[in-house]
Amino acid sequence: MIKKEICWNVTTRCNQACRYCHRFLSIADLSIEENKIILYNLINEGVTDITWTGGEALLLNGIDELLEISSNNGIKNKLITNGKLLNIDRIKKIDKYLDSITLSIDSTSSLINEKLGRGIDHYNNIKEILNYLKFNSDVKIRINSVICSYTKNEYNNLITFLNNYNIYSWRLFKFMPLRERAVTNKDEFSISIDDYNDIIKKVKLKSKIINIDSRIESDMEEKYILILANGDIVITQNGVDKNIGNALSDKVSIN
Ligand code: SF4
Repeated sequence: MIKKEICWNVTTRCNQACRYCHRFLSIADLSIEENKIILYNLINEGVTDITWTGGEALLLNGIDELLEISSNNGIKNKLITNGKLLNIDRIKKIDKYLDSITLSIDSTSSLINEKLGRGIDHYNNIKEILNYLKFNSDVKIRINSVICSYTKNEYNNLITFLNNYNIYSWRLFKFMPLRERAVTNKDEFSISIDDYNDIIKKVKLKSKIINIDSRIESDMEEKYILILANGDIVITQNGVDKNIGNALSDKVSIN
């Protein structure tokens, strides 16, 4: 079967305030009925994998039901979350519909997490989730991290922390001033490509995680078909977002 993948930014709302964030802002959520129309359009198009993201995807009204419908139709659901709403009850409710949960963490330092805008409790929260998942769930665990000026010198701590868990993959993004807040705060968060590559080398050497994946700006070009919270279908070409339709009414061409 040909893999057909979509990244669906189901909401632009978020309960963290990362100052390097390049998500689209201020797009109103669709209703659950409208999101179901999009989901059935994707199912009919033969989509095999959906990455559910945001903003914080778990804030979307009706997300649990969408995950259930998607899973029941054979789609692999990959949820990206900052973990703030992922208590044990919520994990028990949704993990059966998920192929993987991607948790976002950039640093084990509470001070740095506060500076980044993730909040002082972020590390402890992620640790609690990972400790629960380790013994109570078969869902694949993935990690997303952003390497930026604040985190580049303390990667050893994050490597050591993550080595305690059975992590399926770790995707490390270079800070990318693609849009919105990330553009405003570009000077504060930028790192050089050499610094970034050094960290990737270090991670590959010291981490127990087998699937290490790096991402820089050029990797985002035309690689992802995004569906935004209002249904708009977007690809990025030469650093510019291009609207190619709306998933409520148009076919999502993903071949
Ligand atoms: S990076 Fe993710 S968690 Fe942080 S503000 Fe942006 S969408 Fe929210």
